[in-house]
This record gives sequence, structure tokens and C-alpha cells, in this order.
Amino acid sequence: VNVFFRPIEKINSVIETYPKGVAGFRRYLDFLDTAPDIRDRPGARVAPALRGDIRFQDVSFGYGVGREVLSHVSLDIRPGETVAFVGPSGAGKTTLCSLLPRFYEVTGGRVTVDGQDIRDLTLASLRGQIGTVQQDVFLFGGTLRENIAYGRLGAGDAEILEAARRARLGEVIELLPQGLDTLIGERGVKLSGGQKQRLAIARMFLKNPPILILDEATSALDTATERAIQASLTELARGRTTLVIAHRLATIQNADRIVVVDESGIAEQGTHAELLARGGRYHQLHEAQARA
Ligand code: ATP
Repeated sequence: VNVFFRPIEKINSVIETYPKGVAGFRRYLDFLDTAPDIRDRPGARVAPALRGDIRFQDVSFGYGVGREVLSHVSLDIRPGETVAFVGPSGAGKTTLCSLLPRFYEVTGGRVTVDGQDIRDLTLASLRGQIGTVQQDVFLFGGTLRENIAYGRLGAGDAEILEAARRARLGEVIELLPQGLDTLIGERGVKLSGGQKQRLAIARMFLKNPPILILDEATSALDTATERAIQASLTELARGRTTLVIAHRLATIQNADRIVVVDESGIAEQGTHAELLARGGRYHQLHEAQARA
């Protein structure tokens, strides 16, 4: 389930900047209406530059009364670490990650970043330092330039091209007669699934956040494209604290740590080799996917 909404403040400023994008954003705002009402606390502080030391401390959460999706979950993530979350569908991997940018508020316990309860920080300063790459890339009708610059409004062409190059979108842009001025979306060039993913990655190189949440693409990409995207994501994750919501085990074998989430919470954690040797839940999942 996709619960990654973007900060409303940012969307509003994009609407003002890019009138051509309005129709697309309207649809997006309708979607945003379903987000719960989360705002800054009185006296909330602007977060300083974050290192990305993340702690989930005895965290509980449920979308409605009665049924808890997460119950007393604790997890520490070190600055710069890449942690992959695996487990059966519906176990709560996405939910856990969505608590970090405060798309939902914990109902018990707390989440801290660099020792500060995230509820004491302004939403804009917290979310401004968390980047997300999702399966469904949000594009709006407008130029490639505008769509990449959505990662950091006001970025100049040189920075945009550099981000595109690092996301391996550079060649695509060079081949287009109008380059960054190329219109995309309904009335322009239709981007392939892989190109959309690259565009999302380019946005994040531009945004340059210390914390990343990657919601791994499930399917729709061919193996070669997926491998190339994976390489770009690994490069993007370097030096950032990265949470990966993984749907397939093959792509996360090199993560610093793998956390297995199931109905009971965190079932086990360790490196790929450690978890395989343990012969527990991860081992089972691994066997099941190998057979599939
Ligand atoms: P998947 O691998 O399928 O993405 P997941 O482990 O990420 O699964 P979540 O998406 O976090 O699992 O979902 C955990 C539980 O919470 C599921 O039972 C799901 O139906 C429920 N859930 C998720 N999002 C919402 C929502 N916005 N409103 C109500 N329930 C939700």
C-alpha cells in the first residue's frame, strides 16, 4: 500500500511555480485529502542538518481503532546504514517507514532522529531531509527540467543535468532534440517505466537528503533495466541513511542489515549471510522465492 505523500507546502509552491502542472497536481491533491491531519506542534523546532541516526523506540501504530499494525517495535539505525525491510505482504514494512516522515503519527512510543523526537521538529524541516523513491513516480505535465527540479525547486540547469547524469538519464536527455525543454506526460513524450524511475532518482540526487526511503519497484521492469536502476539506487544510497522496503530478496542481499517484519513485529535481523545461516524466517522466505 502506498502511503508516501509529499509535503503539502511543497506541492503548493510547485503549483505556483509551474502553472502547467496544475491539472496533475489537482489530482494529486485529491489523493492527499485522504492523509490524516498532521501538523507542527506549537514550539516545533527547525531540524538542524541531520546525520540520520534513527531510532524507533517501543513504537505502536494502527490505522484505526482496534487493530494495531505495529506493536512495541524497537529498532536503531546508524547514520549511513542501509537497512532493508522484508517480510510477507501486509506485515507493516511500508507503515513502519511512513512513520519516519510523519505521514502517520505513532500511537505509542516514539521515533527519534539524531536524538530528537520527530514530533518536536517542524514537518517541513524533517521532510525536507528525507527523500523517497517510490514505485509509482509522480510526474506532472511540463518539461523534463521542471519534473527533475521538483527534487529541489530553483535548481539551475547545470545542477539538473548533473543529477540526471548521475541517475543515468543523461543519454536519454541528449538524444531528445529539445533536451530539458522536452514536454513529458499526456501531451508530450511518454517515459518508460525505467526512465520514470531514473527521473525519481535524479530528483533525489538534486535534493541530496541525508535520509532516504526506497520503496522498491515490484515488477514492470525487465531484468536488465532493473539491474541498472539498482546500481543507480546503490549509488544514491551511498553516504545516506537508507531504508529499503523490499519486495524481492535478490536486490537487497548487500544491505548492511536486513530486518524481517512479520505479523508479530520484527522477527529477526542481520546480514544476508547471518540470516541464512540462522535457518529462521528469512531462510524460509529465501527458499520460497528461490522455488517461485
Ligand atoms: P506490502 O509488501 O504488500 O507492501 P507491507 O508489509 O508494506 O506490505 P503495509 O503496507 O505497511 O504492509 O500494510 C500493513 C497493514 O496495514 C495491512 O494490513 C494494510 O492493509 C494496512 N494498511 C496499510 N495502509 C493503510 C491505510 N492507509 N489505511 C488503512 N490500513 C492500511
